[in-house]
Amino acid sequence: MSSEAKAAPYAIIPAEGENADIRARMGLRPVVNVSGTMTALGASIIGPQAIAAMAEMAPEWVEMDDLQRRASATIARLTGGEAGFVTACCAAGISMSVAGCITGTDLLAIERLPDDTGIYPNEVILQMGHNVNYGAPVDQSIRLAGGRVVHAGTVSAVQAHHIANAITERTAAALFVVSHHTVQYGMVPLSEFAEICHARDIPVIVDAASEYDLRTFLDQGADIVIYSGHKFLSGPTSGIVAGRKDLVRAAYLQNRGIARAMKVGKESIAGVIAALEAWEGRDAPAIRARERAALDLWQRSLTGIAGITALIVPDPTDNPLDRLEVRVAPESGFTAAGLAAALAAGDPPIIVRGHEAERGHFYLDPCNLHDGEAQIVADRLLAVLKSPDRPKNAMLKPRHSAAAALNWPD
Ligand SMILES: *Cc1c(COP(=O)(O)O)cnc(C)c1O
Repeated sequence: MSSEAKAAPYAIIPAEGENADIRARMGLRPVVNVSGTMTALGASIIGPQAIAAMAEMAPEWVEMDDLQRRASATIARLTGGEAGFVTACCAAGISMSVAGCITGTDLLAIERLPDDTGIYPNEVILQMGHNVNYGAPVDQSIRLAGGRVVHAGTVSAVQAHHIANAITERTAAALFVVSHHTVQYGMVPLSEFAEICHARDIPVIVDAASEYDLRTFLDQGADIVIYSGHKFLSGPTSGIVAGRKDLVRAAYLQNRGIARAMKVGKESIAGVIAALEAWEGRDAPAIRARERAALDLWQRSLTGIAGITALIVPDPTDNPLDRLEVRVAPESGFTAAGLAAALAAGDPPIIVRGHEAERGHFYLDPCNLHDGEAQIVADRLLAVLKSPDRPKNAMLKPRHSAAAALNWPD
């Protein structure tokens, strides 16, 4: 693929009358995404309302603070927070929120970050089982803002006394991560976490990047909550920060400092506002039914294939969605990683949710399909599994390799 893309004489601007898929024009693979809202695959299918708002805003001048003020009103209305703003992504929102908790509205301190944090408390408490990697380590979002991470507890067990004892006069904030990536047991739940922190006046920041519920985390005691605009919301690549007005203001002021490197454009702010309005008006039961139909189709297709077991399983953090867990035993002639690789190498390439492949399964996520793609996935699964020939890496051992990244761009 990379050599083809490199050599390609392709033009992104279509010739007159040409209507090929932009990916085809550019020599890029037209992947089918059954892995979820993945940054590496382009983050989201941006919805039509957001695309229209982005296109309309793109050629216009606008006063950005007023546009963000308008975003704040929409974010406040949907989240129940006092205020909000849009930034480059959720990771940016975490850094800006942490920075805001350190500097407050001290403009000189904002320019000095990430140095000179000695003037203000800069420790940020994080439950050990919440220090995950979502593509980058969450603790780096803290360090980038001049924060010093203080872990509470151990990977599998955190209790109230670990958090209470982590709080000192150097504590600036506490970060709580909601994600399938975190350890799903033995952690202190948000309401209790917030109670312990608030007793000592420590603000609680919640990373809710890919959670559907726009209200529950503020209701449970978060002072700031951060969502990705490009995950469940189907907005452009962006981050949404919402919560207590003083903390939101201090976070927003970081645009004069470290967040200059996290700049968001007018078109994305307009796109997120439209995505939030579209989210409010969405037909959730119809979306659920469409996703369920894809899961049923895939599960039916895989019934009776030796070595394959397919189960419909709920989302681990209780978002209103299910996935198909495909367990791959050796009688199928594949490992989970080998089957995932065969699907990714096919035509069209199908990218599954494979982060648990070493446990012998992967997931098919039905949330990011275009019309007709559920059937394409079912057909490709059967073609690969029923073919008498096994590809040479069918029994591939899963490895988290950085080789491809180290070879970029060629
Ligand atoms: C995706 C994700 C992020 C990063 O979000 P971006 O908007 O892509 O920066 C942070 N935290 C969690 C838990 C995530 O799932």
